[in-house]
Amino acid sequence: MTKKIELDLKKRLSNEDALYLIKNASLLELSQLASAKKLEFHPEKLTTFIVDRNINYTNVCWVDCKFCAFYRHKKDEDSYVLKFDEIDKKIDELLAIGGTQILFQGGVHPNLKIDYYEDLVNHIHTKYPQITIHGFSSIEIAFIAKVSKISKLEVLKRLQAKGLSSVPGAGAEILSDRVRDIIAPKKMDTQEWLEVHRTAHNIGMKTTATMMFGTVETDEEIIEHWEHLRKLQDETGGFRAFIMWSFQGENTKLLEEHPEIKPQSSNRYLKLLAVARLYLDNFVNLQSSWVTQGSYIGQMALKFGANDLGSTMMEENVVKAAGAVNRMNQDEMIRLIKDIGEFPAKRDTAYNIIERF
Ligand code: SF4
Repeated sequence: MTKKIELDLKKRLSNEDALYLIKNASLLELSQLASAKKLEFHPEKLTTFIVDRNINYTNVCWVDCKFCAFYRHKKDEDSYVLKFDEIDKKIDELLAIGGTQILFQGGVHPNLKIDYYEDLVNHIHTKYPQITIHGFSSIEIAFIAKVSKISKLEVLKRLQAKGLSSVPGAGAEILSDRVRDIIAPKKMDTQEWLEVHRTAHNIGMKTTATMMFGTVETDEEIIEHWEHLRKLQDETGGFRAFIMWSFQGENTKLLEEHPEIKPQSSNRYLKLLAVARLYLDNFVNLQSSWVTQGSYIGQMALKFGANDLGSTMMEENVVKAAGAVNRMNQDEMIRLIKDIGEFPAKRDTAYNIIERF
């Protein structure tokens, strides 16, 4: 087996190769292969993280994804839309710990139009020009366009003009319409998700790509997901990173409807991460998802292709609502990275190094 993979690694991994690896390769083999690939991109063994904060400006959402435990409807008692001064307070707290980015996402509120979002981004960017606004997933962008009766391109351009820096890859889940129809039937389809990212890339706005696995998808559909991402990255080069995590089922309708869905093992996470590193040969950065996997597997992920620990995560409401409560601060990140013989560094949204430790 190892010989076959070594030969295949000299050229771009095919879908068949990727499937073969998922089904047949051992963890040890995958770790060796993914580490070699990672070293091609990161020969200096620098492992990065960012100090940022998730701000969920609203939990009101009409999309009703079955895997989501975060959203509420407008009439629900605990629904909210943050006021500007509440957002400011959160950013002040972030600045106090040396943070540089807000990951700014809803809910897809049924009534908020482009003017609201322009005011919001403008307010933050004017008051906190030193903070990078990484915000609004493709479903939010698409819905703002629809409800405001303008194109997605116009939404992106207008928000970019007000200070939106980049768009996170949320909402990709698995880019296979069979899976999407089961887990989030009201959400955009695969092509529309790709279209929003392509449109952003075409106006010079970088984005990230994500994957949530562990619901009803097959291995083939995971590869279909990667294939869409690799193709778009070939076309635009606009993805800064790939981030994957496993479905967190607690409090979700999906688990109620599909009790056969089982939690994904750490082995499965590490295996898929390693194959992603090999298949996505045009992605420089792969994040470890310690928020869902815990700090030990988060550290192990660095041996399976990840070169970035993501965020110190001052606040994370969406995954927390579904049961993942891991927390890691900067000192612990630095220790975990040093413990495996790599060099920690704090980065900004664009992966520029800000500080080495
Ligand atoms: S995942 Fe996002 S779009 Fe889907 S229901 Fe939750 S908040 Fe809404």
